[in-house]
Amino acid sequence: MSKQVRVRFAPSPTGPLHIGGVRTALFNYLFAKKNNGVFFLRIEDTDQNRFVPGAEKYIIEALEWLGIAPDETIAKNEKFGPYRQSERKDLYQQYADELINSGNAYYAFDTAEALDAERKLEEEQGNTFIYNHHNREKLDTSLVISAEETAIRIADGAAYVIRFKTPVNETLHLHDIIRGDVKFETSHLDDKVLFKSDGMPTYHLANIVDDHLMETSHVIRGEEWLPSMPLHVLLYRAFGWEAPQFAHLPLILKPVGNGKLSKRDGDKMGFPVFPLDWKTAEGISSGYREKGFFPEAVVNFLALLGWNDGTEKELFSLEELVQAFDLKRVHKAGAKFDPEKNKWFNHQY
Ligand code: GLU
Repeated sequence: MSKQVRVRFAPSPTGPLHIGGVRTALFNYLFAKKNNGVFFLRIEDTDQNRFVPGAEKYIIEALEWLGIAPDETIAKNEKFGPYRQSERKDLYQQYADELINSGNAYYAFDTAEALDAERKLEEEQGNTFIYNHHNREKLDTSLVISAEETAIRIADGAAYVIRFKTPVNETLHLHDIIRGDVKFETSHLDDKVLFKSDGMPTYHLANIVDDHLMETSHVIRGEEWLPSMPLHVLLYRAFGWEAPQFAHLPLILKPVGNGKLSKRDGDKMGFPVFPLDWKTAEGISSGYREKGFFPEAVVNFLALLGWNDGTEKELFSLEELVQAFDLKRVHKAGAKFDPEKNKWFNHQY
């Protein structure tokens, strides 16, 4: 590997960390340490509606308690600027403008009612509504109105969003370290909103800009973000930037039914889905220890949910995990608990 390994954990401070999030942080940590790289924490707080005060502090304390503290946190950012996205707003605006100027993005003025009407019309004709080249020229966008009118509307304070102009009918052949080769058709992708009417970037724009500026070499995150991979790769391309490598981790699944493990499942199984009791008056770690969990055990348990070293070994210290860790040995299938056998197994979808 020629480039320095730099990986990040990029949670949105919307509440306590789910066990899946803790595992994502752990795998990033292990990968960084194994490759003499840097593990950093970025707080993705551009969605003000979902912001929960205190969550950021809790996340930092949780990682410290687990022994997987980031090398660079929001407090140490001399080279890369603030690691809290809400403090980087102007930067995102600048990059959104760049995409407009290069013809890779456009202004959309559609009202919610106009979009609903368009959606209904498409559905009546048996189509699924996708906002992209199928209809973007029929909608109220800067692709069809003149540059002068666009400028006047914006100066008059009209509400708008900035959307990505997805390329028409292209097959993207991409590679994920865990899932292997993956293929996406751009005709199935929406022209996603990059900049919202409230003047904030969406996750997609902020995430790409930051991963580029912060020199992220590998994006290691939960599988729920796999559908965003084509848009992210297209955004890197539109900016003329090299994309990082991607590794999408399998989910930790519900024991019964489909989807991600929920708090209630964890209560039934006797282990916390939000492992760190962040609201206790005594503080994070004491609340957790009271339940009889130790950080070394949590780390060991989470590492083995979705990964093994190819042997039967079940007890690893953090140092041993670092030595043995390899993204190529992360399972493709999600981890699922079998209540009858009282055992975890790998669930094929
Ligand atoms: N902020 C996203 C989350 O909450 C980060 C996803 C990513 O790592 O790109 O999971």
